[in-house]
Amino acid sequence: MSTHQELIDRDRKVTFHASTHLRDFAHGDAPGRVITGGKGINIVDKDGREMIDGFAGLYCVNIGYGRTEVAEAIYKQALELSYYHTYVGHSSEPLIELSEKIIKLAGMNMSKVYYGMSGSDANETQLKIVRYYNNVLGRPQKKKVISRSRGYHGSGIASGSLTGLPTFHNHFDLPIDSIRHTEAPYYYRRSDAQANMSEREFAKDCAAKLEEMILAEGPDTVAAFIGEPVLGTGGIVPPPEDYWNEIQQVLDKYDVLLIADEVVTGFGRIGTDFGSHFYGMKPDLITVAKGLTSAYQPLSGVIVGDKVWQVLEQGTGEYGPIGHGWTYSGHPLGVAAGLANLAIIEREGLAQNAAETGAYLQQQMQKTFGEHPLVGNVRGVGLLAALEFSPNPARREHFAPALKVGPRISAAAMEENLIARAMPHGDILGFAPPLVVNRAEVDEIIARAKRAVDKVTDELTRSGDLK
Ligand SMILES: *Cc1c(COP(=O)(O)O)cnc(C)c1O
Repeated sequence: MSTHQELIDRDRKVTFHASTHLRDFAHGDAPGRVITGGKGINIVDKDGREMIDGFAGLYCVNIGYGRTEVAEAIYKQALELSYYHTYVGHSSEPLIELSEKIIKLAGMNMSKVYYGMSGSDANETQLKIVRYYNNVLGRPQKKKVISRSRGYHGSGIASGSLTGLPTFHNHFDLPIDSIRHTEAPYYYRRSDAQANMSEREFAKDCAAKLEEMILAEGPDTVAAFIGEPVLGTGGIVPPPEDYWNEIQQVLDKYDVLLIADEVVTGFGRIGTDFGSHFYGMKPDLITVAKGLTSAYQPLSGVIVGDKVWQVLEQGTGEYGPIGHGWTYSGHPLGVAAGLANLAIIEREGLAQNAAETGAYLQQQMQKTFGEHPLVGNVRGVGLLAALEFSPNPARREHFAPALKVGPRISAAAMEENLIARAMPHGDILGFAPPLVVNRAEVDEIIARAKRAVDKVTDELTRSGDLK
């Protein structure tokens, strides 16, 4: 049997890790960890150390770890039919059942589901649909897609271009042409010129900026707008009051499609089946992934609304079968996992739990951190929450990035056996526990987070970085 250290040393030699400092990791200067198991909201590493996963992996393990029911559904499907493709009309029973379920849950005039393996590839499909749609409609110049700063939509060439975070663009020559970024609906980080605006005024201002961008580009060149109902990787930022309503009016005015990227918010995370339901959005297209299978298998979906679907049908009538497909679209093991996952979410009322235990989480976060000297902003919705740190909360000041306040607090939380994610942009600690979390576990998450924040507060006070 290998020890934990032996495994990490082997790993350093052969694995190219996602979002990792490659040199430091390869040369032993950045830590590694081998995860061996999990149950409920906890995971265990090779040393037998148990940690609360306050981020549900990457906000995806919504039903919690170790659900044998899903493992059995995958096993049973693998014995029966491990693979067949979905080209030229082929299907499988669990796929049909899953599509019916998704269309029913979504409502909102959704019509069909296209399957992929990841949120990134699903957004790739979205971009192809948007182009095809406008070509069929005889508007070949209407192709640009507007995303937001701080939006997250994946890390491929096109999906990474939709993402509005510098780390995903720099040194990769992104974004590609035809993608623009408008203002993030990030009330706490509004500009000085916006300082005196109410949330509603700020939301109107975001919509006005979107309209200005559409007019500057030319409305006949703008095809779609993509946004997460709640900004996720960009900092876990719920939109200001009335934001989606204001945005929708602009999109309607210029005939711009709305793509709701529900990879995080889909299937219960903020207390409703979809984030679009929560905010009354009217998407034409929806992206889902993470919560669809709770990550028991890789599976994503593009849910196509009737308006777009009609045009796709018209297009294939003119041009023949659609030139789009992945080998693994609708993979039987993925859809089997999706069905078992959605059955658990429904049976255990996990969207409802996200609403109720989520409200408790938000309340306890405010109570514990609302007046904390290191915390500038406490925010969240459902089972998504964030703490944003500031050396001078009243003035919304930033820490020097070199102090790495966010990562240090995340590391201090890890010393308390709590995983809370240092979000990639800004000093922000994110929480997104599995949707099975209960109140006692929320209390424990907050107690551990409090000790971690207090510890770094002491350090910063002693070093003179916090007055
Ligand atoms: C994670 C994420 C994606 C990308 O999904 P991958 O499976 O990592 O490719 C896309 N959109 C949002 C909102 C996400 O959070």
